[in-house]
Amino acid sequence: MPTKRFVIVGGGPAGNQCATHAARLGAEVLLIEKDVVGGAAHLWDCIPSKAMIATGGALGAINQARGMGLTHVSAELDLDVLRDRIGSIEDRLQHSVTSLLGSQGVRMVQGVGRLVGPHQVVADTAEGQETFEADVVVLSTGSRPRIPEWAVVDGERVLSTRDAYPPPELPGHVVVVGAGVTGVEFVHMFSSFGCQVTFIVSRQQVLPQKDPEVAAALEEDFLRRGVRLFKGARAVAIDVDVDAETVTVRCDDGRAAAGSHALLAIGSVPNSEGLGLDAAGVELDPSGYVVVNHNLQSSQPHVYAAGDLSGKLPLSSVASMQGRKIAEHAMGLHAGPHRHLDYDKAASAIFTVPEIADVGLAEADAFAEGRKIRVTKVPFSANAKALIDNDPRGFVKIVSDPATGVVLGGSIVGRNAAELISVIALAVTAGLRVTDIVESLLVHPALAEALADAAE
Ligand SMILES: Cc1cc2nc3c(=O)[nH]c(=O)nc-3n(C[C@H](O)[C@H](O)[C@H](O)COP(=O)(O)OP(=O)(O)OC[C@H]3O[C@@H](n4cnc5c(N)ncnc54)[C@H](O)[C@@H]3O)c2cc1C
Repeated sequence: MPTKRFVIVGGGPAGNQCATHAARLGAEVLLIEKDVVGGAAHLWDCIPSKAMIATGGALGAINQARGMGLTHVSAELDLDVLRDRIGSIEDRLQHSVTSLLGSQGVRMVQGVGRLVGPHQVVADTAEGQETFEADVVVLSTGSRPRIPEWAVVDGERVLSTRDAYPPPELPGHVVVVGAGVTGVEFVHMFSSFGCQVTFIVSRQQVLPQKDPEVAAALEEDFLRRGVRLFKGARAVAIDVDVDAETVTVRCDDGRAAAGSHALLAIGSVPNSEGLGLDAAGVELDPSGYVVVNHNLQSSQPHVYAAGDLSGKLPLSSVASMQGRKIAEHAMGLHAGPHRHLDYDKAASAIFTVPEIADVGLAEADAFAEGRKIRVTKVPFSANAKALIDNDPRGFVKIVSDPATGVVLGGSIVGRNAAELISVIALAVTAGLRVTDIVESLLVHPALAEALADAAE
């Protein structure tokens, strides 16, 4: 039987995972990427943000070392060295993704891809145009920062998330607009570098989608670090005074926050323009995301959309998994469990200090639904390793079914939360019970012991 020809447009986590997996499953795969394989995730989002946060964390650890019996510890940030470090991490990751794709026989084309018919994809390359016939088309072109009509991003004083890893200079005082995950990570990052930060939060809680107790722990830490919070204030304008080198963010309640820089972190918009979706009969929703079913098929069943373009959960981890699922579905692997993605079971993390991570059912959502749950919570201040590490902030919370003991969700605030949540994520995905966690023979002393204590 002739093999299936996949043409994938966009080589971020969704596109490159789909490409390697489909090739492993026997497909003939062509990947069109206009910039670099690895995508925005490597260039502007996950990797540079976490690299900068790691440097800020190292500065914090040096300060914390004073409480661990060390004296005369100090450090200074060199922005050029940090920029080189981010570049070298990106190069290494890009090299490893490109090698993996090559080793699986994926053909890579550098160019801009678009559909010119239901089964035809054109790549506009430096050498000219090339047209490819496809049995399966995967659109994984990602998203870009949303810039509101009231702001002009100049990349110098008024920054989007893409101008800030690292910024051209460290702001003396940055006004961060946007209280979601990206916004709080920027607040944390800039304040860990010693910048003054004002945070414009349109609701009454930072991280409005998260457990209020988790958000409160973060707010408390921001206030302790001197971050100025403007709660319940929606930004409506930004004035730039070029001579005075200041920006002023004006809010709908009359308040104004002045600083040296403003940073906008208010969501993203899909990269669906110019993809020839009309020509192929692919339907978009009113916000420009491709309408997909639970198999990620668009209104044209052989055209799939993955990653941020699918309008589902905008996480790199989700994008990668969607890419894998598409490869399996298009190659006819329908049977068996775990074929469809359950977005409610995706773990996510916020790389602040303290770190925040959660998965599955949140306590507040269970109460809103009137669902019976058991919630158990243990603070890290009772954990030996947290005390040894001189960082006993935060807690572990586990949500379970009181009748069966099955783990439904959990949240962690504290050091290494992003790693520790994996245990609860595995329990949620595999339908394990709290006793399965309690009876695991864990390492001592370890932060993970707090998970067993919370599951007790
Ligand atoms: C500041 C920030 C930090 C983040 N941190 C995290 C994190 O820590 N963890 C996490 O899980 N998620 C994180 N995310 C989200 C994550 O970056 C995205 O969900 C992820 O990048 C989506 O992957 P994707 O494959 O859909 O798209 P992308 O990574 O955006 O890749 C899309 C690719 O398509 C290419 N492309 C676009 N149009 C065309 C075309 N016409 N032809 C050819 N190529 C094209 C682009 O050049 C790009 O390489 C973060 C997001 C932001 C904004």
